[in-house]
Amino acid sequence: MSIAIDREKCTACGLCRQVCPGSLLYSDGQGKTFIKYPKDCWGCTSCVKECHFKAIKYFLGADMGGKGSTLYTKEEGNLMHWIIVDFEGKEKIITIDKSKANAY
Ligand code: SF4
Ligand code: SF4
Repeated sequence: MSIAIDREKCTACGLCRQVCPGSLLYSDGQGKTFIKYPKDCWGCTSCVKECHFKAIKYFLGADMGGKGSTLYTKEEGNLMHWIIVDFEGKEKIITIDKSKANAY
């Protein structure tokens, strides 16, 4: 699993680079992010959650949808929307209330 960064959508905010635990994300000459070692990405999704510009897509493995499905996130206050785009372009949205994330 890995991510892909859309250079056109990247605003060079740099937030994703601050959260990658593997220090895999780098800035190019224009401050935009690229992933230097995509094979080393273990899919923690930290960068996906941090990007507010839909510039980072996470590729879902076969066991999670596969066939080219991708995932990005959108935040609204305490709500985190996980937006899955399947191989036919159809969206499925899973919404998590972060204020209740630790409730059992
Ligand atoms: S968080 Fe998104 S917009 Fe900001 S630098 Fe990273 S990819 Fe670009
Ligand atoms: S998914 Fe995690 S490991 Fe992979 S590039 Fe993003 S922050 Fe780094």
